[in-house]
Amino acid sequence: MKQKIRAFFYGRNGADTLSKAILYPALLLLLAGAFFDAGWLKYSLYFLAVAGLVYSYFRIFSRNLYKRQNENRVFREFFKIMRLKWRDRKTYRYYRCPKCREWMRVPRGRGSITITCRVCRFRFEKIS
Ligand SMILES: [Zn+2]
Repeated sequence: MKQKIRAFFYGRNGADTLSKAILYPALLLLLAGAFFDAGWLKYSLYFLAVAGLVYSYFRIFSRNLYKRQNENRVFREFFKIMRLKWRDRKTYRYYRCPKCREWMRVPRGRGSITITCRVCRFRFEKIS
């Protein structure tokens, strides 16, 4: 039995961060729906919950690892930048290179500055 489960999951994406980030709120919505009487609110909560569950399980069982891992990477990168922006909100500003989309951190309160991208050497002006 254990061998069969392992064989089934071989080559599949599995429960990554993005799948869990969709699955857990979907389960909460499913629970929340139980507290409402039948009506549009209950059915919309159930609809959202089921849509989240279906998408989450689609991601977990998907064999297109390249696409799923790329989605997961973009999702994790977004929250990583949000966390850094919040942590450094008083001392630094974050900008994206308009050419290569790389994130850069510059000190706050220096007025108008020219930023040189450390990856592609592209220069652009921003107010820090
Ligand atoms: Zn760049």
